[in-house]
Order: sequence, then C-alpha cells, then structure tokens
Amino acid sequence: MRETEITQAVLDWYDIHAREMPWRVGPADRRGGARPDPYAVWLSEVMLQQTTVAAVRDYFHRFTARWPSVGDLAAADDADVMGEWAGLGYYARARNLLKCARVVAHDLGGVFPDTREGLLELPGIGPYTAAAISSIAFDRPETVVDGNVERVMARLHDVDTPLPAAKPELTVLAARLTPDRRPGDYAQAVMDLGATICTPRSPACGICPVMEACAARKSGRAADLPRKTPKAAKPVRLGYAYVGRRNDGAWLLERRPEKGLLGGMLGWPGSDWSDAPLPAPPVSADWADLDAEVRHTFTHFHLRLKVMVARLPDASNPETGAFVPHSEFRPGDLPTVMRKVFDLASQSPRVN
Ligand code: SF4
Repeated sequence: MRETEITQAVLDWYDIHAREMPWRVGPADRRGGARPDPYAVWLSEVMLQQTTVAAVRDYFHRFTARWPSVGDLAAADDADVMGEWAGLGYYARARNLLKCARVVAHDLGGVFPDTREGLLELPGIGPYTAAAISSIAFDRPETVVDGNVERVMARLHDVDTPLPAAKPELTVLAARLTPDRRPGDYAQAVMDLGATICTPRSPACGICPVMEACAARKSGRAADLPRKTPKAAKPVRLGYAYVGRRNDGAWLLERRPEKGLLGGMLGWPGSDWSDAPLPAPPVSADWADLDAEVRHTFTHFHLRLKVMVARLPDASNPETGAFVPHSEFRPGDLPTVMRKVFDLASQSPRVN
C-alpha cells in the first residue's frame, strides 16, 4: 500500500468505527457541515494529557455543564475549578486551564487561535496539545502523535528503536501519512485505531484496515512493539498527614502552595515528603497514630503517609491551615491522595 492508500484506509475505517466522545464531532456530522467547538476540544485535550478517555468523560460533562463557554470558565472562582478537577491528577493542568481561559476570554475576545503557533503561546498548551487542537478543531494538517499513534507507526514500519529514543523517527513516519484533506478526522482516526484495534498487548491484526501494509504483522513482532527502555524504579517517600476536627465539626485543612505537587489544591496539613520526615503537627493536640498508612503513586515516586488524627479544642490556633465548617467541606474537592487520607481517618471515632 502506498502512503496515500494507508491514510485513506484509516479514514474509511474511521467513517464506520469512530468512537463517540462528548467533545467530538463524528465524521458523518462533519460531512454535514458541523464543526467542533474549540472550547470543547481544548478542554478535552488538556484533560486527556496523561489521562484516559474513560476517566475524562465525567469530568468533561461536569465542567461543560457548569462552565459552558471559555468566558464562563474564565469568570469562575479558582477554588471551584480546583475542586471540580479534584481526582483527575496533574493539578498544574487545572491552574494552567484557568490561566489559559482568562487569556482567551480577556485578551483574545473569547476566540481561540486557530494555528499551532498561536495555540503554543497559551498557558498549558505544549506541542502535542497545540497540534491536536489545531488539527481537530480547525482542520489544519498538523501531525498529532500520542502513545496510540507511536504504537501504530512503530508496528506499521517495524521500528526496533525503543521509546523514548524512537519518538523523532515515529513522528516523521506519522507526518508522512498526515493528509491535507480531512486532517482533523485523520488525527482522530489513527488514535482510535491504536486505542481499539492496534492495542498494546493483543493487536487485532485480522480486522485492521492497514494489515496489508504492516511490517510488524508480517514479521510477527506486532505485540512486542514499540520496544521501551526500562524505567528506573521509583523511590519511596514517607510523610505524615494530620486530620484534625474541632468539637463543632469543623475540619482543619490547608490550601497547598500554588507551585509544586498538588499546587493550589485543598489538603491536610502535614510534614514534608522525604526519606526521613519529622512529625509536623499543625497545632498542639493529642494526636493519635492510626495503625495504617495511605499509599499513593505519583509520576516520580511512591508515597507512604502515616495518618494522625485528633479532636481539637475549640480554641485551637493552628500554625498552618484553617478550619472549614463541616457544612462547607466537600471531600470530593480533595485530590486523590488527600481523599485516601480522609477515607482512612474518618474510620476513627476521634474525628467522627
Ligand atoms: Fe497494528 Fe496489527 Fe494493524 Fe499492524 S496489522 S497496525 S500491528 S493492528
């Protein structure tokens, strides 16, 4: 198959098998003249960074129901947006989301740039996201390369170089297939192919639209590609988390600094996270050590948190954090690791 034939085969397959997604305008509607809402495409692409489609769907629905336009999102309270983002992880994305919404709403009249270069100027939009938005929302012939596309290209061409070193090579191969006609559909088509047919462990080569062109299918190495350079083992860090509650039911919480891990999110006061952290109670009290720990894995390390609980005197004057009345406390606003701490601590009668 020539390159144009591979591209056409992928598009023909997509016309029948495109996945439905709440932010997507499917191929039939596109043919009928419908165009995607750039706000929806941008929001979904930011949410999809490092996150699966399945995890993103509910968040996308909630965000667009509460903030239907970029202007609505730009006018939102930071704490409300961080709260809605809780559980999705990689919280710098949420802070950049707000910054970007405000630039688009206030400086650009509510209109997203329609080129890769223009999009790259915006907060939180890197090369991949800029290419994806300009391709999907504006039908620009940009090459969009995510993990699915890398896998399809590595197999189509039987690329032996392991990732991440193979990225430039796979991007060149992907660019050769990017068409001038229907580039937005093609970008989504090849990602769908990787997500549903050319899957990581058991590619369904027998029903693949490009099987005739696929070198890895012929060499029998499809399931082994792309090769990956083994990652270094993640270190383990330790820490203390303090769940304190006053007699009137208020919880002692802190908003984490804007910069750094979980930046801007609500959480429980605690120690630093290191090899040998020192206890760091936010206020003097009879802290009890729950005989259990919370475990959570971040991108670069595993965390094990010792959870301390205490009933706090009404006159408590904490060094860090502030009391949040029980009626205003929404555990769903906590990032996942802090939610795990809450779930464990709330089994203790000291804070119930
Ligand atoms: Fe992937 Fe198999 Fe299709 Fe090749 S033939 S692209 S390995 S699903």
